[in-house]
Amino acid sequence: MEFDSVKSIVPFSLTLPREKPYLGTLRKGEEPNASGYFVRRGNGTVYPVFDRSVLVRIETRSGIVGWGETYGLVAPGAVGEIINDLLAEFIVGRDPTDPAAIYDDLYGLLRVRGYGGGFFADALAAIDIALWDVAGRIAGCSVANLLGSAVRQTIPAYVSGLPEDSLEKRAELAKSWLVRGFDSFKFALPMADDGPKAEMSALRSALGEKARIAVDMHWSHTAAQATELIEYMAPCGLWFAEAPVWTEDIEGLSRVCRDSAVPIAVGEEWRTVYDMRHRIERCRIAIVQPEMGHKGITNFSRIHDCAAERGIEVIPHATIGLGIFLAASLLASAAMPRVTAHEFQHSIFEPNRRLVLGDMDCVAGSYSIPTGPGLGTEPSPEAVAQMVPMGKGAASLARRN
Ligand code: MG
Repeated sequence: MEFDSVKSIVPFSLTLPREKPYLGTLRKGEEPNASGYFVRRGNGTVYPVFDRSVLVRIETRSGIVGWGETYGLVAPGAVGEIINDLLAEFIVGRDPTDPAAIYDDLYGLLRVRGYGGGFFADALAAIDIALWDVAGRIAGCSVANLLGSAVRQTIPAYVSGLPEDSLEKRAELAKSWLVRGFDSFKFALPMADDGPKAEMSALRSALGEKARIAVDMHWSHTAAQATELIEYMAPCGLWFAEAPVWTEDIEGLSRVCRDSAVPIAVGEEWRTVYDMRHRIERCRIAIVQPEMGHKGITNFSRIHDCAAERGIEVIPHATIGLGIFLAASLLASAAMPRVTAHEFQHSIFEPNRRLVLGDMDCVAGSYSIPTGPGLGTEPSPEAVAQMVPMGKGAASLARRN
């Protein structure tokens, strides 16, 4: 065998405490259960009171190590088991320098059984990111350079999430980021306790006429409600409106896209380019928001290319995690011309960055992409010490140590 093949793959879960739950202090009726989960009344969605993700460590026969990451917010053991029980044995021995071929082979294993998304695709995303990291390290270059020749060093960032308990405090928090050089913002509609118009007006008067303000509608409305709400907020100047209707409601999405003068953004929850293709045929989507932690670099690139064909803007999502998938998202974005901005979740990035090695940063309105081979980013020894190896991979790791 001439290439440096994959020797081992181990999934880990990592739980990180948060000072304040994601999206802000728990409201009445949002008490956590014994597993630490609570349901946000505003969007009916389950969240843990802590940050948690699944990390994947891939090592080659020559000792090159790559890291990947995916969602571990809920049931992280599901992803661990899919990797350990099913996927790991199909990756060991493969050439890590062709991650897309491995992605497609693994995806194809369950195509006829309909496992094209969910936890299965999350497992594939983590593996894919780790393989790209390995591929970059073998080539001695950044993942961004593997993906394209024109690589940007910075990506415009927009401030997302204003986890404060009152409209005044949220406007103050947004303003503190404006002062630090950020000019674009997004608020979460389910947390706007005083109503959408009051939230928009408070943010607009705190941030001034020039700031861009977007709204995340959290998939909570019918098409008619969403269109009406967007129209109601539009006079305050909306940059874009995100996730207006249920993800399953493609007909509703197509109506909102048709009837709204504000650009509509969707796609963080999609897993593959197929999720995009069957929507863009019917919906005039203005912006797609790929989430690296669900898609991996392979699908992220395919979604970008599909957007480029259709003249759709790409503004990637940033979710809760350690920061490995964020590094992957920034590197991919740096090589992709349709990416015009990237979400910045300061309440996740700022506390968790101490646990990753590398020079990824976000200041004065821009991310600077990590430098160095592969992802240029890896879990710090402190993070590794907190990571819990999962299942069968854990057993082989224990034997090796
Ligand atoms: Mg969102």
